[in-house]
Amino acid sequence: MDLLNTLVDKGLRGESPTREEALAVLATSDEELLDVVAAAGKVRRKWFGRRVKLNYLVNLKSGLCPEDCSYCSQRLGSEAGILKYTWLKPDEASKAAAAGVAGGAKRVCLVASGRGPTDRDIDRVSKTIEAIKEENEHVEVCACLGLLSEGQAERLRAAGADAYNHNLNTSENTYGTITTTHTYADRVETVHQAQAAGLSACSGLIAGMGESDEDLVDVVLALRALDPDSVPVNFLIPFEGTPLAEEWNLTPQRALRILAMVRFACPDVEVRLAGGREVHLRSLQPLALHLANSIFLGDYLTSEGQEGKADLAMIADAGFEVEGTGTTTLPAHRAAGAGTGCGSACGDAPEEAAHAAEADGRARTDLVAVRRRGAGTDLPPNA
Ligand code: SF4
Repeated sequence: MDLLNTLVDKGLRGESPTREEALAVLATSDEELLDVVAAAGKVRRKWFGRRVKLNYLVNLKSGLCPEDCSYCSQRLGSEAGILKYTWLKPDEASKAAAAGVAGGAKRVCLVASGRGPTDRDIDRVSKTIEAIKEENEHVEVCACLGLLSEGQAERLRAAGADAYNHNLNTSENTYGTITTTHTYADRVETVHQAQAAGLSACSGLIAGMGESDEDLVDVVLALRALDPDSVPVNFLIPFEGTPLAEEWNLTPQRALRILAMVRFACPDVEVRLAGGREVHLRSLQPLALHLANSIFLGDYLTSEGQEGKADLAMIADAGFEVEGTGTTTLPAHRAAGAGTGCGSACGDAPEEAAHAAEADGRARTDLVAVRRRGAGTDLPPNA
């Protein structure tokens, strides 16, 4: 396929596709899926070999958020039956982080619900970062605390944070339909603040919220322009009790096409397969390792992932290897400037049949399990 040859050539040179080319990747048929995965896989291997970086989430503060992000089980008015708790103490967070590191995680992501941290919250998180680094000198720490105020990114950097995550989530055009309590511009500004403070920026998206192909390409190209070091790709987990509970729009094939498009658009950037992979990729998860070079180990913020041991077995079975602490994740040209481096077509109706496996909107609530172990509970974490 000319399109794929062009995109491989561009990706190997570190160049992004045009908007039209990115849209064309999303429009490929299920028949072409393995060709698309193989092509984007060449780009992935050029920049990241067969390494998979493991990241581990610690939810420092869960639920009770005053913001109204429609996709989020922790939002204002959420009726999802998630764990709700206030700030973990530094030693509790450090213990949770240690479990992830022992499981093979190279980066720990410290996340807190809320619009953004107060200066007192920055103090707490700084102490937590110090406690984690004391125990695990080489672990990368990424903070994800919402919108930052002036000077807060610098304080996190001084406390030892390596990276800051703040996702754009969806296109600028549709942002107002997903969240009304803050704006897309607010989010862009926080990513800029993190970069200006010398933190490795991590910013990504959520697919499956009812967006169009154009929206997906817009947000991915906006991310490319923002130039984060890592791009997490989430697939919506439609939590019961949230406004998007009925949005079951993704198939495993569609999820792979989205990941391939992100890889082509961000060839030399850490593309992280994030929340929702078990729910939407299901048995095709191993194919996604040919596209993403990074995944979360174990559980997510408010939902359970597959067992950490199953993640490790999947990586080994698919012929990939867990990236060690002695290896720099990003290609040399990027790492230098970053923190520490954050139904096949049938004959007569090909158009309609090309996406025959497109989601039928049937809810798979059986695949969504609320997290009941690890941080905020007395039970051991999944790592
Ligand atoms: S995504 Fe963050 S800011 Fe939005 S509702 Fe959830 S916890 Fe609050």
